[in-house]
Amino acid sequence: MVSWRWMMGVMVAISVMAGQLFAQSAEPTAPTPFLQALRWEESVLHIVTSGKVTFHTFTLREPLRVVIDISPCALPTESLQPEGDTPTSVERLRWAQFKEGVVRVVLDLRENTQYALSTAAGGSEAMLALGGAPAETGTKPRPSAPAAKPVKPPSPPAELVQMEWQHDKDSARLRLKLSRKVPVRLRPLKEGYSTLLEMPQVKPGTDLPADWKVNHPLIEEVQFSPDEKGVRSALLIRTSRAAALSVEYDEQQPVITLAVNRPRNAHGKLSEKHIVIDPGHGGKSLGAVGRERDSVVYEKDITLAIAQRVQALLLKEKATVTMTREDDSTVDLYDRPKLANEKGADFFISIHCDSTPQPNSASGTTTYYHASDPDGRALAQAIQKHLAAVTGLPNRGAQTDTAIYQSGFAVLRRSEMPAVLIEVAYINNDKDRAKLKDPKFQQKVAEAIVAGLKAYIEGEREEQVAEGTEVHIRPASDRKETELPVQIPEQL
Ligand SMILES: [Zn+2]
Repeated sequence: MVSWRWMMGVMVAISVMAGQLFAQSAEPTAPTPFLQALRWEESVLHIVTSGKVTFHTFTLREPLRVVIDISPCALPTESLQPEGDTPTSVERLRWAQFKEGVVRVVLDLRENTQYALSTAAGGSEAMLALGGAPAETGTKPRPSAPAAKPVKPPSPPAELVQMEWQHDKDSARLRLKLSRKVPVRLRPLKEGYSTLLEMPQVKPGTDLPADWKVNHPLIEEVQFSPDEKGVRSALLIRTSRAAALSVEYDEQQPVITLAVNRPRNAHGKLSEKHIVIDPGHGGKSLGAVGRERDSVVYEKDITLAIAQRVQALLLKEKATVTMTREDDSTVDLYDRPKLANEKGADFFISIHCDSTPQPNSASGTTTYYHASDPDGRALAQAIQKHLAAVTGLPNRGAQTDTAIYQSGFAVLRRSEMPAVLIEVAYINNDKDRAKLKDPKFQQKVAEAIVAGLKAYIEGEREEQVAEGTEVHIRPASDRKETELPVQIPEQL
């Protein structure tokens, strides 16, 4: 990824240029207020601006985020460091010039948290209080503060009336009949090929049978966790290999169909496939930067080193490989997926290093897929599974690229084949960077990428689920002690 520092630099440059343009115009314009400070006091975030602004707050999901749009507002010319300790419920605090005149502050939340926004100081300061009981922290919300906005689905929940499996050779389909239409969502879990179908507005119907059977080689386990209150019902689906899961809504009836398919280009052998390997950045685009006492490590060099190892391994497997760059040359961002599309490649794999605004504030490996593309998600799960087993770093999971930008990553959005973007490790984390520079680690990562790709195409192991094995769906509480339960994470 491009470093935040670099992005912020560009944004500052743009806002400074805009300021100059305004200065030249005939009519004097009041200066746009700028974001002056971000300060945590216990679980309250104080957002301070240099003048009167409007704060507008809302919630985004997958992952759960609280967004505060500030307008009219610009970023400061000098870099901003948040003060105070970030509360544990917040994974990350970030901010950017969302568009001209609007600064967006985003809180990535680890858990479902209530919040309330109040303003003070004549509209140049907002306090965002997180959590159910801010009084305990000693910070009193102002009397004028609006009531807390609970982050929970509207009631009453829909009833799940019926579940029914339909299947053929390459796909299994679960039809869920509901009392009314409600949204559901798919979330890949970190454990192997496990995906959660989250049904936050669904409760089990009274006539719902206690036991269902499915018999399909793609399905290894299905676990239904009903919630009588209808806030965190979920269906866990574990597949025997990387599988493409998608949700279809019936136009007429309140029926949701969960389709589990063999993903695209997952037939045959790795040796028959054409893979485009994209070493992130290159030439004038340095990518993220890791600073050491007397040297600098550039993302573009690490990504090329790993990509060349992936290329060598794939050639050894007799696969066809195209590199978006073979050396330290500058390649346009859009030319990368364009090349893959023109070649009619089967896969696009982009290799990057992650970075944070603050050095040593994050660690680990993430594999991104575009939006909710089922094939990209399956490929990301396969590669992430194999990477997580060898990096010795935190497994940050397979994630949708819309978690980073609303439009996703250009290289994934524009690729017509199953595509992933791997953030191998954090280049501005000392421990991660030591690994990234190590040729042995680079080789292990390259081997894991190839193993994940091979598992996506050819299946995870020789022994598939034996034909005729029945998988029972039943409430999680019915499980025997000898069985390893898959932990269903907290509702997002
Ligand atoms: Zn990058």
